[in-house]
Amino acid sequence: MQEYDIVVGLEVHSELKTNSKVFCSCKNQFGQEPNTNCCPVCVGLPGALPVLNKKAVELVIRAGLTMNCDINETAVFERKNYFYPDLAKAYQISQLVKPICINGYIDLKNKRVRLNRIHLEEDAGKLVHSTAAIGTLIDYNRGGVPLMELVTEPDISSADEAVEFLTNLRQKLIYAGVAECKMEQGGMRCDVNVSVKKKGTKEFGQRTEMKNLNSFRSVYRAIKYESERQIEILENGGKIIQETRKWDDNHGKSISMRRKETSSDYRYFPDPDLLAVEISKDDIENIRKTLPLMPDQFKDKFVNEYGLSEYESDILTKEKKLSDYFLEVINHYNNPKEISNWILTEILNRIKDEENADIKISPCDLAKLLKLIENKSVTRTNAKEMLTRIWENAENIDNLVKEFGGNIDDDKLKVIVETIINNNPKVVEDYHISETPEKVFRWFTGQVMKETKGKANAQKAEAYIREFLNK
Ligand code: ADP
Ligand code: MG
Ligand code: ZN
Repeated sequence: MQEYDIVVGLEVHSELKTNSKVFCSCKNQFGQEPNTNCCPVCVGLPGALPVLNKKAVELVIRAGLTMNCDINETAVFERKNYFYPDLAKAYQISQLVKPICINGYIDLKNKRVRLNRIHLEEDAGKLVHSTAAIGTLIDYNRGGVPLMELVTEPDISSADEAVEFLTNLRQKLIYAGVAECKMEQGGMRCDVNVSVKKKGTKEFGQRTEMKNLNSFRSVYRAIKYESERQIEILENGGKIIQETRKWDDNHGKSISMRRKETSSDYRYFPDPDLLAVEISKDDIENIRKTLPLMPDQFKDKFVNEYGLSEYESDILTKEKKLSDYFLEVINHYNNPKEISNWILTEILNRIKDEENADIKISPCDLAKLLKLIENKSVTRTNAKEMLTRIWENAENIDNLVKEFGGNIDDDKLKVIVETIINNNPKVVEDYHISETPEKVFRWFTGQVMKETKGKANAQKAEAYIREFLNK
């Protein structure tokens, strides 16, 4: 079989993090009762007039700035005409000729993916194919939710690269406060364009497009499947037709839907109800000033300022929640290594299985806990127990210190060890004749910890036990 290059371009839709919708004052909120969150504008009644939400424009500019885009001085809204039941006014307000952002790029590990544009548009309502109802239901709550659409150049060359791109993009949008990208709520969706060409040749092959994929896994599988399908057709002497295909995630294959429409099919024209948006240099600079730290900047800070390893910094910047948390703890307690250790083990273990899980100990309390360990007011083991109690029952750390705090001093510990050993001659004998003496040994350490309520220094306890056992 001949070798082929895979060529992929993505069109990514993300719902913006605004309070209200893009052309009316209805709430931008997920999970409401159907059709309770709409008005004449976002349902699309004739004659209703849109009023632009400035915040949505600002967020798209923010996105553009974090991805090295040029911001157009004038952005224009256009009507994209098509009929679909989830879009009652039969056109979507979008942008074609003059989007807010053009050009730009995102750097991946091994390559730069150029961006073509980022524009602002409105989301459509949602069709609900319910088995409980006859026919199909429509929920217009999502209608008019602000969406940014980002279009890449066809610079992506594999399914892995596509996932790397999307992961990076999602992280940037979340860090910049532009979008929450909750995939499971449809907050980020992706159209995938795929073509193949003989290895090393210049000219692109004919492409197909799969719309509205809502997980990275399905993007990955769709690219694998579709590129293989196209290669097989070409190898058998066939031709690829440009078309829109549906990705069927359950069956793991793509199915032909319709001949691909082009932009002229939509009869775009400037929306007469909306003024062009003028964006001044000052506007842009003011937004640039408010940009929070991006993942790469966090990483730099973690490595260079706090001396953490690349590995630790990578994990801490996977989620904004973690990197923000780290910085807050360090405000209270300046020990980066120890904080990072606790976040990477104790905290991550408790949140890793649940999407959007909360960190159920305040940065201030974690700092307190680590200080208690440092000045030996509690043992490491007891600190972990305290964390569990704070996490699970929201207990007060100062009360817990009364219960768990304090160390047993050496003399007292010695007496406790001696007593336990004297009271258990049979086990001592066991220890000397057993084939697995370490097991017996651990029984003794367990007893000491129980007796001291975990307040014994573990190393010292072990040393004393050994000493007495071998007397
Ligand atoms: P539309 O889909 O609206 O016609 P474009 O022509 O701008 O829009 O392209 C949409 C996407 O398709 C872009 O992400 C672009 O990079 C990608 N694309 C264009 N040509 C190809 C190709 N031959 N193979 C793969 N992707 C392509
Ligand atoms: Mg397209
Ligand atoms: Zn509305």
